[in-house]
Amino acid sequence: MQGLMQNWPLTADRFLDHAKAWHGDQEVVTRSVEGPITRTTYAEIHARAKRVSNALRGLGVKPGDRIATLGWNTARHIELCYGIMGMGAICHTLNPRLFAEQLVYIINHAGDRIIFADISLLPVLAAIRSQIPVVEHVVAMTDKAHLPAGERALAYESLVERASAEFTWGGFDENTAAGLCYTSGTTGNPKGVLYSHRSNFLHTLAMLSPDVLGLSAVDVVLAVVPMFHANGWGLAFACPAAGTKLVLPGQKLDGASIHELLETEGVTFTAGVPTVWQMLLAHLRESRGKLTTLRRIAVGGSAVPEALARGFRDEFGVNVLHAWGMTEISPIGTVAAPTGATLKMDTEQQYGAALSQGRPPVMVDLTLVNDDGARLPHDGKACGRLLIKGPFVVDRYFGDDSAHKLLDSEGFFDTGDVATIDSLGFMRITDRSKDIIKSGGEWISSIEIENLVVAHPKAALAAVIGVAHDKWAERPILIVKLKPGETGTKQEFLAFLEGKIAKWWTPDDVIFVNDVPLGPTGKIDKKLIRKQFADYRLP
Ligand code: AMP
Repeated sequence: MQGLMQNWPLTADRFLDHAKAWHGDQEVVTRSVEGPITRTTYAEIHARAKRVSNALRGLGVKPGDRIATLGWNTARHIELCYGIMGMGAICHTLNPRLFAEQLVYIINHAGDRIIFADISLLPVLAAIRSQIPVVEHVVAMTDKAHLPAGERALAYESLVERASAEFTWGGFDENTAAGLCYTSGTTGNPKGVLYSHRSNFLHTLAMLSPDVLGLSAVDVVLAVVPMFHANGWGLAFACPAAGTKLVLPGQKLDGASIHELLETEGVTFTAGVPTVWQMLLAHLRESRGKLTTLRRIAVGGSAVPEALARGFRDEFGVNVLHAWGMTEISPIGTVAAPTGATLKMDTEQQYGAALSQGRPPVMVDLTLVNDDGARLPHDGKACGRLLIKGPFVVDRYFGDDSAHKLLDSEGFFDTGDVATIDSLGFMRITDRSKDIIKSGGEWISSIEIENLVVAHPKAALAAVIGVAHDKWAERPILIVKLKPGETGTKQEFLAFLEGKIAKWWTPDDVIFVNDVPLGPTGKIDKKLIRKQFADYRLP
């Protein structure tokens, strides 16, 4: 027997409809790419997004077409996404930090018909224009007055102004594709994750729950994580859904610019990768700045160093909420929120739980397996491959028609991460499976050592990689970028680790470098580091 309730497809356009109807005057503030701070509301964004749908229709766009954006977080970018998705087309957020050849591959693979680009990113496109024949139009996300001299791209504002604001969104199946995001592709070619309206909708509901991001209409959210990184962590959906004030930082993510927005806009919640928060912390310490309204920072994308979490809490009274996820999971898979059991622990133990990658929200199922696929216990010790399943987890990559099955026989997706899960359900990532160091048949966690090292007062960034060793197969070496003006020795860094890790985990060498390479989503690029140290021989 079927239930007798309304069949109301869970499509993402409903979030902006809701924001317009019930939080219409709520402000959306942008540090525009052109320079000035601009202010709008959800009601205005809604009206303009409808115009975008009409403009797209005028350019011949049909449901299912891929329409790309190459832009920073701005109100225009949000209205564009809704305009694209609302009409049943697919919003493909391109990462401008990718290498040119990766962008070329991704744009052609996705078959993007139009690219909407911020003016500061037009040169990125100009450089590859002849290699992306699939693209019919480039639209510059600005008005005519700000089009760079000689630029042939259409001006976004002219396109939007001309279009009508009457457009009916939705009316399609909730499983219709809504968004496309390519993984940064640390192995092989980048892979496209094709989100559906339904997967975005359910992910948003999970995000809004109190033990995940717990956003509410009294929050002011600064969305630092770019919309092109892992579905923008879903903030473009969660903020209008909750009716939060939304602050968008544009292109400027340095400590001073972020601090200014946090204070002038009264931000209570923000989210992004650790490197951004390291820069903010350094800026605050240097400038003796304060955080007068910020309560929580969600940090993920790579592990939160303990020194970062302690710095924000002890010096600025701000809690760090550690989250783990990936592009393939829409992206949030776990969050380290407290439970009744952790609240009974002493402060240090509570910290231990808060620094783990956390527990899954409703709709996410996790399991650990060994190399033979056998389930491992949740005892905090057994370390294995982390598998995940749920309605916002990838089923197949976009355009992958091969017979290769991404999921196992039970429908689990292998995250490529290696982890433990303790008896209270807190998951801890010990490594990416391809970064793991296997020494004498046992695993060494590069992440754990790196997190300890960045707490050293002289260290700016640290990476631990495995290098070949005759007897032990692999041994760890530590690569350190020091803070400006500092000098360091191998001995002092090894002494700093003494007693904090097992003796046999101690790196065999410490190498000081001028720079540690970061990948396109702000994470340390271990693949490149391994390449740089390919000829390295242990002392
Ligand atoms: P991406 O799809 O680019 O967001 O990359 C996802 C990968 O980033 C995950 O599979 C993890 O290896 C890593 N990652 C994300 N969040 C965390 C975290 N909180 N701690 C450790 N690694 C993380």
